[in-house]
Amino acid sequence: MLTPGGVIACAIALWAGVVALCGLIVYQSYVDAIYLARQSSRNLLQAIDRDLERSFNSYNLSLQAVINGAHNARIMSLPADLRNAVLFDNSATAQYFGTLVLLNAQGRVVADSSAADASPNDDLSDRKSYLVHKQDPRLDFWMSPPHLSRRRPGAYEITVSRRVGAPDGSFAGVVIGTINADYFRALLQGIDLKRSGIAAILMTDGSLLATVPYDLAQVGRNFRSSPVFQKLLREQSGSLWGTSTVDGVKRLHVFRRLQNLPMIVDIAPAKTEILADWKKRSLLVSLLGLIFGLLVMPTAFLFARELRQRRLSELELRRQAHLDSLTGLDNRGTFDRSLQKACALSKRTGSPVSLLFFDLDKFKSYNDTYGHQAGDDVLRRVTDAARKTLQRSTDHFARYGGEEFVAILEGTDLEQAVAIAEQVRASIENLAIEHSGGPTEFVTVSIGVAGASGSGVTPQTLIGMADEALYDAKAAGRNCVRRFSCANRAAIT
Ligand code: GH3
Ligand code: MG
Ligand code: MG
Repeated sequence: MLTPGGVIACAIALWAGVVALCGLIVYQSYVDAIYLARQSSRNLLQAIDRDLERSFNSYNLSLQAVINGAHNARIMSLPADLRNAVLFDNSATAQYFGTLVLLNAQGRVVADSSAADASPNDDLSDRKSYLVHKQDPRLDFWMSPPHLSRRRPGAYEITVSRRVGAPDGSFAGVVIGTINADYFRALLQGIDLKRSGIAAILMTDGSLLATVPYDLAQVGRNFRSSPVFQKLLREQSGSLWGTSTVDGVKRLHVFRRLQNLPMIVDIAPAKTEILADWKKRSLLVSLLGLIFGLLVMPTAFLFARELRQRRLSELELRRQAHLDSLTGLDNRGTFDRSLQKACALSKRTGSPVSLLFFDLDKFKSYNDTYGHQAGDDVLRRVTDAARKTLQRSTDHFARYGGEEFVAILEGTDLEQAVAIAEQVRASIENLAIEHSGGPTEFVTVSIGVAGASGSGVTPQTLIGMADEALYDAKAAGRNCVRRFSCANRAAIT
């Protein structure tokens, strides 16, 4: 059965379910937004990585070709222009690849791709790319941080170098190449990371090679001390949240360190921009959840109130169906049921049960003299007076019909019932309601009392006995109480 509380509970449960669902959608789309951002950063990263690996492979091949040529005495003995054409043949095809220089063990220029007539023996022994190989025989490949180009003012480049070994393994020189830093810039160009996102290619020593949005002033700057860069260094690849100490923006850094090169590529969209669409969607979903609640809850409250009122009026109707409308006492139907129950209980337990039968004296005459309205009023007042005496929970006081009343007294024997009847009679007489046509000058009542217990008790016999006793009371002059007696039908109390 649907109860008002049940309706509210259902509505709350429904709303809680919708709120939980909204929460789940919001949470799931948050996870999705982050996942998508991470995934698209990874794709970008992969493309950049592949390009870097491919380009550096080709640069490396160019360096290797020079080393191979340097080991070939026939090539090295060719005239300078021919020798350069053979030695540096590969490098011509590599984009952004600048000058290649071959140095001997003493750091003097043996061949220079930019000038066939370059004065050999130019001393470049102070160059880092020469010194690192000379000092560390195990170092085969080296890459410098970005630095301003000597040949192209204002432009940045990096230097890559490889060791040239003599047939006996000893140091025989280095081959040095330059890569235009524009290469890195071109690699990142076109990446759209909205307003606050950043993409960067860094060297593992912290120097910046290129960034998006591009800022030439940042190229070559070292980020070794940046906490975010320190975190990137800890893993080969992955993703992490980092807040920039420069602009305070929180970003999702998806990064990878290149396999064979000292470089890290970092794609870092800003958190606010990753979650911008999610925020809008969440707001909409939350709003819908709220609207749903605002619609459902008041409707449920209204419905519950309606239900409660309907139940109350049903109860009231049911209650009224059992009561007499003039006096508010039990009506005849209720009395019949109460008497049935009382007799059944008496039969079962052997406890006594008594019945009082009241009838107002000469009431027709009262109505005739004072009017029906005043008669009704007397019925109410008499009821109130009698009710004061019949107050036990086991007393059932009812209007039998017209100006006749009955009272069932459970657990009360005839003796006690007669005493109570006498109290009732006296209380009505004491109301002293004027009644010129009555046996006295006031409104009075005659009462017949019957009592029984055990197996002989039936509603019919009890009513019959009380009725007979009442008849006797009337016959005895009214305004008195008579009990039913088997010996002489009614005895004077
Ligand atoms: P008796 O002493 O022999 O009982 O005389 P009586 O006039 O009371 O007897 P009777 O049973 O002939 O009259 C009952 C009267 O009670 C009839 C009617 O005018 C009055 N009566 C019955 N029901 C109502 C009621 O609901 N309101 C009013 N005002 N009077 C009622
Ligand atoms: Mg009567
Ligand atoms: Mg009467």
